[in-house]
Amino acid sequence: MSSVPETVVLVVGAGLAGLHAATLLARRGHEVMLVDRRTDLTTAIRTTGIFVRKTLDDFRLPDGSLGPPIRRVVLYPPGLARPVTLDSPRDEYRVGDMAALYLAAARAAAESGVRVVLGTRYTGRGLSSAMLTGPGGPTSVRTRFLVGADGARSRVARDLALDRNRQLLVGAEEVFPVVGGAGPPAFHCVLDPSIAPGYLAWVVNDGRHAHVGVAGYADRFPDGMVAALRRFRAAAPGLSGVERPDEVDRRGGPIPVGGLLRRISCPDGLLVGDAAGAVSPLTAGGLDPCLRLSEHAAAVLDEALRSGDRALLARYDGVALRAGFRGRVLLRRGLARVRTPAVAAAAFPLLRTPSGRAVARRILFGDRSFPTPTSPGRTATPRAAVP
Ligand SMILES: Cc1cc2nc3c(=O)[nH]c(=O)nc-3n(C[C@H](O)[C@H](O)[C@H](O)COP(=O)(O)OP(=O)(O)OC[C@H]3O[C@@H](n4cnc5c(N)ncnc54)[C@H](O)[C@@H]3O)c2cc1C
Repeated sequence: MSSVPETVVLVVGAGLAGLHAATLLARRGHEVMLVDRRTDLTTAIRTTGIFVRKTLDDFRLPDGSLGPPIRRVVLYPPGLARPVTLDSPRDEYRVGDMAALYLAAARAAAESGVRVVLGTRYTGRGLSSAMLTGPGGPTSVRTRFLVGADGARSRVARDLALDRNRQLLVGAEEVFPVVGGAGPPAFHCVLDPSIAPGYLAWVVNDGRHAHVGVAGYADRFPDGMVAALRRFRAAAPGLSGVERPDEVDRRGGPIPVGGLLRRISCPDGLLVGDAAGAVSPLTAGGLDPCLRLSEHAAAVLDEALRSGDRALLARYDGVALRAGFRGRVLLRRGLARVRTPAVAAAAFPLLRTPSGRAVARRILFGDRSFPTPTSPGRTATPRAAVP
């Protein structure tokens, strides 16, 4: 083992949740180290990057990091016949240039004083220390608090004996620049359990980039997720006239959909983002929850650090916040029960009625986001910068 460096807070994982939490803590004057096993934050991206209106209203993302606004959602039954088109009078979604966003966020973190250490894996925890393995070999870092921002299969959650995600979807997509084609930017969703069991297959085409993906319960893809994506890609809607390149970027990963975990803190640390299960169980959107929960985490940690009272971390409680997910957990259970194309197709006559369309609009164009946690001394920050 080499030297024993120290930090007050060690954040594991430089996804959106970890970057945001680390920066907020450093801006409050705390010593923070942020590690990620990736050597380059523009690689191994695990998200489509769709930001919903509520996030865009409440947070200021770096200039030039967002694609054109999307106001149209098209819902397709299996077979793609007679889709339901929903148009919103407002801008509903924008797709982030995630590589640019991660780089900007890492730069902002470093400028705020965070020690950003890439190519370094968290491997375990000892008494008041964390074990890391980086280019120089194994190191032990003395730390007062550990923040698990290390994704859906969080090692930190395990080591802190906190709750862990048990219900997971897996998703994969291909991304390519859009050349040709016409029509407004649109989000195409296909409800077909034979290609996306328990969730959706999607094409997001904002006129600049297209994302073609599938997600579902891993053990329910009839011939595996890769084969499902191949089949979907061959017939994906929303790409007429668009040139399909031979080379595409590939993204993918697990998506926790069981709702926010209950036990997400202990006196030694806490979880944020996917590690805390902070993803909408229905839409599988996790970017908005990353930002909101990290703000709450930073506020609670700040108070604990200032007062020297570790017990204050108990205020970071998943049980209270989870109540705001109840409806979405129920709808997820409903979606999980759609096991055959025939059942999915049967929902469409209802979806075509005025009341069916109204329900779909409420889900897709509603103002709901991750429940805003009440943090100590928190006042609403209008359009807080990220970060
Ligand atoms: C295919 C797909 C598409 C999605 N699309 C959307 C979308 O369009 N909109 C939306 O809102 N949500 C979407 N989601 C969900 C959303 O992307 C996630 O909820 C969000 O990105 C989670 O961010 P995070 O920072 O918690 O975790 P992550 O972004 O997963 O970051 C975790 C980080 O921890 C690092 N790490 C893990 N273990 C270790 C370790 N032991 N040591 C060091 N580093 C470690 C990883 O390298 C990674 O950088 C999608 C998810 C998937 C899988």
